[in-house]
Amino acid sequence: MSRCLLISNRLPITYDEKINNFKASSGGLVSAIKGLDAEVVGCTFEWLGILTDDIASELIEMVRHETVGNLKYHPIVVPKDLYHHYYNEYCNNVIWPLFHYERSLVMHTERGWKSYCQVNLIVAEEILKVAHDDDIIWVHDFQLMLVPGILKTKRPKLKVGFFLHIPFPSSEIFRELPQRKEILHSLIQADLVGFHDLSYMNHFRSSIQRVLGENPLPERSLGVYPISIDSSYFRDLADSVATREFITKYKENKKEMKWILGVDRLDYIKGLTLKLRAFRKLLKEYPEEREKVQMVQIVIPSRTEVPEYQKLKAKIEQLVSSINGEFGTPAYMPIFYLYHSVCAPELSALYQLSEVLHVGSTRDGMNLVSLEYIVSQKDKYPGVVLLSEFTGAHSTLSYAMSINPWNVTETARRMKEAINHPEVKRRAEISAMQTFLHHYNSSEWARIYIRDLISSRPEKKTVILPQEGKFPWMNLLAGKRVVIFCDLDGTLAPISKFPSDVRLQEPMIDLLKKISATSAEFVIVSGRDREFLEEQFLGQGFTFPLAACHGAYYFSPAEEEWINLVSHDPLKWKSSVMDILKMYTSRTPGSFIEDKGHAVTWHYRNSPTEFASFLANKLTFELEETLTNQPAQVNRGKKVIEVTSVNANKGYFVEQWLQRMEYLPDIVIAIGDDTTDEDMFDMLQGRTDVKTFCIKVGREKSRARYSLPDQGAVRDFMGNLLHSLENHESSVS
Ligand code: UDP
Repeated sequence: MSRCLLISNRLPITYDEKINNFKASSGGLVSAIKGLDAEVVGCTFEWLGILTDDIASELIEMVRHETVGNLKYHPIVVPKDLYHHYYNEYCNNVIWPLFHYERSLVMHTERGWKSYCQVNLIVAEEILKVAHDDDIIWVHDFQLMLVPGILKTKRPKLKVGFFLHIPFPSSEIFRELPQRKEILHSLIQADLVGFHDLSYMNHFRSSIQRVLGENPLPERSLGVYPISIDSSYFRDLADSVATREFITKYKENKKEMKWILGVDRLDYIKGLTLKLRAFRKLLKEYPEEREKVQMVQIVIPSRTEVPEYQKLKAKIEQLVSSINGEFGTPAYMPIFYLYHSVCAPELSALYQLSEVLHVGSTRDGMNLVSLEYIVSQKDKYPGVVLLSEFTGAHSTLSYAMSINPWNVTETARRMKEAINHPEVKRRAEISAMQTFLHHYNSSEWARIYIRDLISSRPEKKTVILPQEGKFPWMNLLAGKRVVIFCDLDGTLAPISKFPSDVRLQEPMIDLLKKISATSAEFVIVSGRDREFLEEQFLGQGFTFPLAACHGAYYFSPAEEEWINLVSHDPLKWKSSVMDILKMYTSRTPGSFIEDKGHAVTWHYRNSPTEFASFLANKLTFELEETLTNQPAQVNRGKKVIEVTSVNANKGYFVEQWLQRMEYLPDIVIAIGDDTTDEDMFDMLQGRTDVKTFCIKVGREKSRARYSLPDQGAVRDFMGNLLHSLENHESSVS
């Protein structure tokens, strides 16, 4: 059975100074994991989270050796000051307000970001210390967004998932973050990034495109998993003796009054002042509701030491007292305001006694209170949920009554509607949502996520180059006839803004010269035109066979001339393609056309990313329509669209080449980074008469069985290849 390491900012325990010990804390994630059956999920759990170094080390050790239910805890000790800068100055003063669209509350400090990086590194290093290669790592929330990147860079084989418990904002907001690139670069390395809501996932996807200019991640790497609650716990709680005692006690005072309940942590995201203004509007616009309806608002204290929160508290209290002053009578108090936590049975009693729950958050990752309220309702006259459109729960709770909390007048009208909602409808709506939550509980949420994480980015039989820069099979090269087909751009040379600037650099030139002096056959297979390859290779004294234009033309060093391998005349399709490409080029700044004979390429690397990608989709479609029944095909590469003659194809070229050899080689190696190289991999890996090793350069999905992380790693690879081939030479002589 494999092991799942859960990583969160805090362990699900809170240190209590009074008792000098820890108390278990509750929350969605804890209940989700507690309810999981290791046998069913197929893994055991261990939880890693931060404890600060002001806690006595004996206590920390005690936590380390305790098992709680199906959970083992693993504390990660961080200096208290560092933790404070990381948590308050970056997590709470930058990410929290920005991701909840409260831009004016964002406060940047250099120390905050530095501490965030430091703590994320400490956490990642601790994970690397304890993780085995077959463990599943599940990192939680916005405090640890750099952890997936560090883990994947240091141990690419680790399966790493990330779940964001808060909203991911629109790319318009996200791109204001100074550290946007660092954060995205890390998150996109996770095998699965999960969100509560589809809109968050879409924002994430468009942020990647806008900020990194990369194509969105494949579907399998992203997912929507709205968290749920421990439904059976809340159902049992609703029937407990303690809860019933609270119900009896409050019922006496409540009498015929209708209650609109609010349960919110003190936070600017909860829309508390807007909610109070809407309630005032209700009493003002609909006098018939006065003395019939009361608001019961619980505000759970939070971040009490922060001035922004103190100001918010004062504002709420001022509004409460002004509304009570305006509409109250000795027999009627419009708002009951509680500024403290309540115990679980009391909360359940309030859930059951209220006719309406009002959730007015301006942004809320999910909002668990709305789910708890629904599950706690009984058949007889159940409650109605007034739910802000800006909560993650809104997509899950399809029978809740939607509100836009910013529209105070409309919210007041919806409040009136909710209070007077007929019993039949209340029953039907609550029952539909209860049925859903009964099955889709927090454990189900975790189970589905873990299942997807396990099957995400399936081990595509790709072996990343090990640290020492060597694939194990390279030992096989000794004494064998070896052919290497190698791409140029993005493989032997880094991609450049302008294709004409690309030049082979040292030490690659030296390595290639030495490789060409071995008995191995080294063939360049490129999408470039003949002139460019001549200049790069022949001009520099290389004596490789060269394939230009994806194999449409072949240069044999023995014959010293180019041979056209494609019988069709490209002029047949070229003029109509050129007309279309010229039209798109004039509309797309920075784009240009490259004519290579049997291929025409439209480059948009230097164009505004989103606009050019949008036009590239349209262009592909238009070209495909135009080329129906023509001997040409449309290919999409890295920021290029290319039309080639049908046989100008690297796979076809390699096949022809092997056919023309007097003897089949023992080993064929193919290496490339772009989509056109996939044809070569496909063809070779389908052959059974020769041993093949196909290597993809880059992390994108590929049909190649092996991969190198980036172009930089090709140099190490070539060095090792040369070494293996030279060993072969010495063993032969
Ligand atoms: N809650 C609490 N103490 C209380 C009242 C409520 O701990 O006095 C719990 C409530 O049951 C819910 C959580 O606080 O599980 C609030 O979660 P939610 O997702 O609604 O909001 P968050 O505080 O996470 O933004």
